[in-house]
Amino acid sequence: MKTLSILGATGSIGTNALEVVRRFPERFAVAALSAKSSLDTLAKQIVEFDPELVSVFDETGAARLKTLLPAGCRTDIVHGREGYRQTAECAAADTVVTAMVGAAGLEPTIAAIKAGKTICLANKETLVMAGDYVMSLARDRQVDILPIDSEHSAVFQCLEGNRRRDLARILLTASGGPFRTRRAESFGKITREDALDHPNWSMGPKITIDSATLMNKGLEVIEAKHLFDVSLEQIEVVVHPQSIIHSMVAYRDGSVMAQLGVPDMKGAIAYALSYPERLPLGQPVPDFADLGRFDFEKPDLERFPCLSLAFDAVRRGGTYPAVLNAANEAAVALFLERQIKFTEIPALISQTMRRHTAVATPKLEEIMAADRWAWETVAGAPA
Ligand code: NAD
Ligand code: MG
Repeated sequence: MKTLSILGATGSIGTNALEVVRRFPERFAVAALSAKSSLDTLAKQIVEFDPELVSVFDETGAARLKTLLPAGCRTDIVHGREGYRQTAECAAADTVVTAMVGAAGLEPTIAAIKAGKTICLANKETLVMAGDYVMSLARDRQVDILPIDSEHSAVFQCLEGNRRRDLARILLTASGGPFRTRRAESFGKITREDALDHPNWSMGPKITIDSATLMNKGLEVIEAKHLFDVSLEQIEVVVHPQSIIHSMVAYRDGSVMAQLGVPDMKGAIAYALSYPERLPLGQPVPDFADLGRFDFEKPDLERFPCLSLAFDAVRRGGTYPAVLNAANEAAVALFLERQIKFTEIPALISQTMRRHTAVATPKLEEIMAADRWAWETVAGAPA
């Protein structure tokens, strides 16, 4: 029996992880949950999964959540940074699923690693911001980081049973998002609704916008670099609009291994949760005759400058990836609030990166400071 702490339990990954738990009650139990919002959903999850500890964003949320729970509910409700830390360190959990969105994932993930928990990592922003620090901490504490991001799960699966030193290249696939074939001249007219309408995947709002700008692929390149300890030159992005090939690994003899499946995150989540076993998930096998063909193309860096900005941030290193991440998060939040245009997202990130004075080998506090600085810089940028 694995006992889980699920951080970001009410989100897209969190609810899918709980669906896997629901299907395999003999294998998984829930020790702790955390979320920022959706308190009604969280209350239902508490009643169903009976965790001992739950954290929400603030005191008001904690008080409201308590009113939604039945009398006699044994769950301890905590809140804030300290509350999130407690859910990450919860003694009753052996595995932590990090599925909160954005930079907010970094501190709890570090706390979970320090507490010796196995990490099922969905929160890619953690490795984008502080990949060197987090991976070295995990090595020191002998903690496994198992990827949930579908591309990284695919690479992880393609590496199984092969010798690491034979790896030549990682090929990360990208759907290309909703604007893959849209003309550059009309990008200024893209609305919030257009950008939230992803062709293949159902995900939370921030990552859906990241997928539309291709920043998601940029963040995933940085995530892959740290997770698999490869150079930037060893990672290639291939646009594959059908999203059936979740990613590939090329070996030095020219042989390529790919992992395929329907685009449903439960596959990658269940693999991380049950590794090295595979669960009888009941996912359909892709119908290849019905699909008929697979397409591939190069990503268009002209129409999707966010991908170039991410490459640029990795090449420069230091605090640049943290600034890229924070500027993106702040710009996406403004776009979701309809305060800026779609095309202003890369413009704001680029402007913020240009203004940044980087720290070459940053300590954790310097990474957090760069994160705060980039948020403030985007907030203060002229419209
Ligand atoms: P989501 O928006 O659906 O859910 C986010 C969860 O985090 C919610 O439970 C929310 O309450 C909580 N949260 C939000 N802000 C918080 C804060 N400041 N502090 C603590 N908790 C907070 O997001 P999602 O789509 O489930 O994505 C979660 C993470 O997984 C992201 O890092 C994303 O990049 C990554 N990811 C998601 C998918 C996917 O299919 N959704 C795929 C790969 C990777
Ligand atoms: Mg992904």
